[in-house]
Amino acid sequence: MAKQPCDHCGLPTFVPDAEANAGPAGRRPVFCCTGCAFAHRLSAAPQTAGDITPLQTAAWLTGFGVFNQGVFWVLQHLLRGEGRAALSQASGYVSIGLGAVAAAVLIAGLATSRRPAAGDWVVWSLTGVGLGLALFTYSPGCAAAATLGLILWTLRGFFRRRRAPATPGKKPVEGG
Ligand SMILES: [Zn+2]
Repeated sequence: MAKQPCDHCGLPTFVPDAEANAGPAGRRPVFCCTGCAFAHRLSAAPQTAGDITPLQTAAWLTGFGVFNQGVFWVLQHLLRGEGRAALSQASGYVSIGLGAVAAAVLIAGLATSRRPAAGDWVVWSLTGVGLGLALFTYSPGCAAAATLGLILWTLRGFFRRRRAPATPGKKPVEGG
């Protein structure tokens, strides 16, 4: 195993020797965690439609799903206020379902972008438990909290300092 800096935050990251020795042409981006992979892939603007990565598609679908999860959650409250209990509950279940689909799409996109670490499995499991609880206890709020937790964890790469782009012909500064 060799070490290379994470392409997003610069943290030294273990990569297989074969990949480290492949040279610049065969070099794939290296990320220390799924958070960095997500932040990097999402901020890299695609030039053509063919450049859109599965992770970017998953991110957009997740955003769309979570937005509507919130819409149906609000709707559930409004309908209950109007005394339309059955319709209110249906909206609540739609909200929970949208949250579950959004979380599943995001996790699938992340799992294909980089090998998940222990922390990912913990957060993803907690998200699944939260959504399961939300479904069985009928709690759209619990589902919203579970998806929000997953999204905050996924966005953590954006809060990391981006590593300075390497200047050609100049050795990268050690330490820091
Ligand atoms: Zn990183």
